[in-house]
Amino acid sequence: MTDSADVSRFLPDEEATLAAGARWAASLAAPLVVYLQGDLGAGKTTFVRGLLRAAGYGGAVKSPTYALVESYPLAGFTLHHFDLYRFASPEEWEDAGLDDLFGAGSICLIEWPQQGGGFTPPADVTVALAHEAGGRRLSVTAHTETGRKSLEAW
Ligand code: ADP
Ligand code: MG
Repeated sequence: MTDSADVSRFLPDEEATLAAGARWAASLAAPLVVYLQGDLGAGKTTFVRGLLRAAGYGGAVKSPTYALVESYPLAGFTLHHFDLYRFASPEEWEDAGLDDLFGAGSICLIEWPQQGGGFTPPADVTVALAHEAGGRRLSVTAHTETGRKSLEAW
């Protein structure tokens, strides 16, 4: 992942993180695999919450830390939100049958993808969030043509 970021933006508060996720919702199309990078509390789940609300999901968006994955059937695709933080070893990917959730109709957003080792499918886009000056720095990088297309409206 040596590509320089396609989008870099300072997010001063939680509302800005929600809005950044929301902004992407309009140009998302399946299939797509997104890695969400950043420390605990960086805002990864907040970003997904903003995206889901803008995509028309009206319910609560819980962190999948314990469930491993939360799935949201939406108009046009199913969004799967993973959090691999609690993986003790990458093999848990296979034990949990997570490959079955990837495919033509799926948008998969994955927190702590490195915990899945070689089992985690490669990303079309990486969304990185980092603490900066009381807010967050958002950096978005496309790795594939599919990923680049998804960022066109951004
Ligand atoms: P993660 O999923 O990365 O562990 P969460 O989204 O669960 O992080 O939590 C992020 C925390 O940081 C929340 O308390 C949220 O209100 C806060 N937060 C999110 N975005 C920003 C921001 N741009 N500036 C300041 N605080 C933020
Ligand atoms: Mg989270």
